[in-house]
Amino acid sequence: MRQSTVDEVRVAVADLHNELVRYGLVVWTAGNVSARVPGADLMVIKPSGVGYDQLTPHNMVVCDLDGHPVEDGLQPSSDCAAHAYVYRARPDVGGVVHTHSPYASAWAARGEPVPCVLTAMADEFGGEIPIGPFALIGGDDIGKGIVETLTGHRSPAVLMRNHGVFTIGPDARAAVKAAVMCEDVARTVHLARQLGEPVPIPLDAIDALYDRYQNVYGQPVAPQRWP
Ligand SMILES: [Zn+2]
Repeated sequence: MRQSTVDEVRVAVADLHNELVRYGLVVWTAGNVSARVPGADLMVIKPSGVGYDQLTPHNMVVCDLDGHPVEDGLQPSSDCAAHAYVYRARPDVGGVVHTHSPYASAWAARGEPVPCVLTAMADEFGGEIPIGPFALIGGDDIGKGIVETLTGHRSPAVLMRNHGVFTIGPDARAAVKAAVMCEDVARTVHLARQLGEPVPIPLDAIDALYDRYQNVYGQPVAPQRWP
């Protein structure tokens, strides 16, 4: 593993936290981004208890995939064990994000999945946004709940019951995007609910929308890849 690779991931992870702030997904220090280091059994994650305006590439924490820091420095996010569990269980995952974004967390508080009633949901999530189990922070329970809920599911987002949002992606930027979109659709479906029952999208239409968005939408070549 090249040191320059770790340094690139530090820059990307520090920068991506700005998106959590920009889109109103976090308050105080309650939300975090991590990324797998390509070609190594390592991850880079936010330090615990450090405000978003204090984050720099230098104070990001490099951990092994058991969630233990591999260098002297700050302690990793208290959600580190959950992120690490996901990387161990899912080699396809390159980025993990956690937030308590308010509308999505309100669905989590009720233990209710967000139903697929918007084409944007079919595009990004391929169906409902599922609910994961109630789990206490600290051990592997949160990570296990994320992996068990999302494995075999199209959604890159899970609402952990009574807690908040975890998202995964092939890279950290994709996981951040899923967290932004999750809050956006959770808010819109909540608003729709205020005046009636939202209309479901037929399953075959969800499949067609998901397939088009995942395989056809956008530019033929991604302009920039992030760790
Ligand atoms: Zn949390």
